[in-house]
Amino acid sequence: MLKQDIAIVWLKRDLRFTDHEPLFNAQKQQLPILLIYCFEPSVMHYDDSDVRHWRFVHQSLQDMQDKLKDHKVQIAVFHQEALFVFEKIQKKYNIATIFSHQEIGNLVTYNRDLAVKDFCTQHNIVWKEYQSNGVIRKLKSRRDWEKRWKLKMKEPPKMVGESNWRFLDIDKVWYENLKGEPLNIEITKPHKSFQMGGETMAWKYLSSFLKDRYVNYSKHISKPALSRKGCSRISPYLSYGNISMRMVYQYTMQHYSTSSNKRAINNFISRLHWHCHFMQKFEDECRMEFENVNRAYDNLVKPKNEAYILAWQTGTTGVPIVDACMRCVTQTGYLNFRMRAMVVSFFVFNLWQDWRELHYLAKQFLDYEPGIHYPQLQMQSGVTGINTIRIYNPIKNSMEHDENGEFIKTWIPELSLVPADIIHEPWKMSAMEQELYKVKIGKDYPFPIVDVEESRKAASDQVYQFKKTEAVKTEAKRILNKHVNTSKQDAKNASKQAAIIDLFNNNTPQ
Ligand SMILES: Cc1cc2nc3c(=O)[nH]c(=O)nc-3n(C[C@H](O)[C@H](O)[C@H](O)COP(=O)(O)OP(=O)(O)OC[C@H]3O[C@@H](n4cnc5c(N)ncnc54)[C@H](O)[C@@H]3O)c2cc1C
Repeated sequence: MLKQDIAIVWLKRDLRFTDHEPLFNAQKQQLPILLIYCFEPSVMHYDDSDVRHWRFVHQSLQDMQDKLKDHKVQIAVFHQEALFVFEKIQKKYNIATIFSHQEIGNLVTYNRDLAVKDFCTQHNIVWKEYQSNGVIRKLKSRRDWEKRWKLKMKEPPKMVGESNWRFLDIDKVWYENLKGEPLNIEITKPHKSFQMGGETMAWKYLSSFLKDRYVNYSKHISKPALSRKGCSRISPYLSYGNISMRMVYQYTMQHYSTSSNKRAINNFISRLHWHCHFMQKFEDECRMEFENVNRAYDNLVKPKNEAYILAWQTGTTGVPIVDACMRCVTQTGYLNFRMRAMVVSFFVFNLWQDWRELHYLAKQFLDYEPGIHYPQLQMQSGVTGINTIRIYNPIKNSMEHDENGEFIKTWIPELSLVPADIIHEPWKMSAMEQELYKVKIGKDYPFPIVDVEESRKAASDQVYQFKKTEAVKTEAKRILNKHVNTSKQDAKNASKQAAIIDLFNNNTPQ
């Protein structure tokens, strides 16, 4: 029997309808369209993956399914490997074209894409992949990258028509047999401590931010408690593509002229830009997932200490701000930038552990985006050789950004009665104070597992010495050439280039 010709739109980290180039182009061709999403066991079981991510994806798909109801069609959702699904679809139908976005993913999705590419070649299938936000595939040089980013953000969005769809009337029995095991209830059940996924929620967060929350953006960005409201919180929506960067940019620009705090909006816009800047780095050198970007750091040995790692993960290091952050991110999936950088700094410097043990954080961040995560981890861990090394002082940060200890008390109930002036260093309390505030240090809450000042000094001596070695400097030059804008002006001065990258380190003191 002659197989029906079809086109597929393969949804990945682009779970939306607005400004969706694959959908936009699929709609322009004549063949019936099958929309698919695959929950792939190999990706779901990878080291960086957590149920919170798949719950968010599930909610995002539900939101899309609701919008499709009027069209009497649904996305075909599979709990199977993508390649397997394509093979089965090809047996039943004749796939002419697959439309998708380019994915800037981890090693599993990269290898899967290579296998899908081979499959397409074997079966004469055209796979049309479109650029994700401002990240350019096979970029030869960083020259003009900024200009190209702006041009991309200013292009008219790719809006699909409401009515002129031609969807495939899928064989329901065939689909039921193929779709795979039901998803775990932990994925399908909502969880009130986490932001909810979906395009509708993405626009709610963005508009409430630009309507009023943005006013305190610059003031609250470093505060662990206040940033939860003062920052946009759009990161998971960008990570799963519930909203495109272009729509965020254009919608923000629309609000610019009437905004009462233009500095805050400018700060926000520069971070949108950083989002793609980091992802471009990762796209250009994806070995960053596993290897020090500056290879010379392979010689900097850090013995693994399981007890330290466990204490850090479970929020029981005895340093309240670090523990509060770790408990908070485990339970809600969110931490502001400064606190992310601080917990990494504590891990790699004070505890002297290797950043590659930090897969744990990828699992915790609801907004986990490999393209931002790994370059940030390496930068904060001081293994790039081109950025200023920042060893955050957790006590100073605690006193400055959680002045009243409100954040600490929320996440460490053991310390809930301790007054603000001692909560940042509870080990300094006298026996009488401990009795008064109903906490026994060493029993109800631990003593610090390392001396914060001594461990900072030991790390600082080692890393600054190491940064001066010829091997680090040689690699640093290579990295600057590859990842930094080499427009004429900047190329004149390598140290100026490094300073530019440091802007991406939030440009604020430790
Ligand atoms: C160790 C470490 C790991 C990180 N991992 C991730 C990650 O997996 N996914 C992720 O989205 N962000 C990551 N970040 C960057 C940053 O912390 C988050 O993007 C930000 O806290 C998200 O909150 P928001 O949406 O309220 O940000 P806002 O401050 O409102 O910023 C708006 C958007 O700009 C982008 N952005 C903001 N800050 C940065 C930054 N420093 N670098 C790159 N993009 C930025 C994000 O897309 C963010 O949603 C990481 C930072 C560190 C230090």
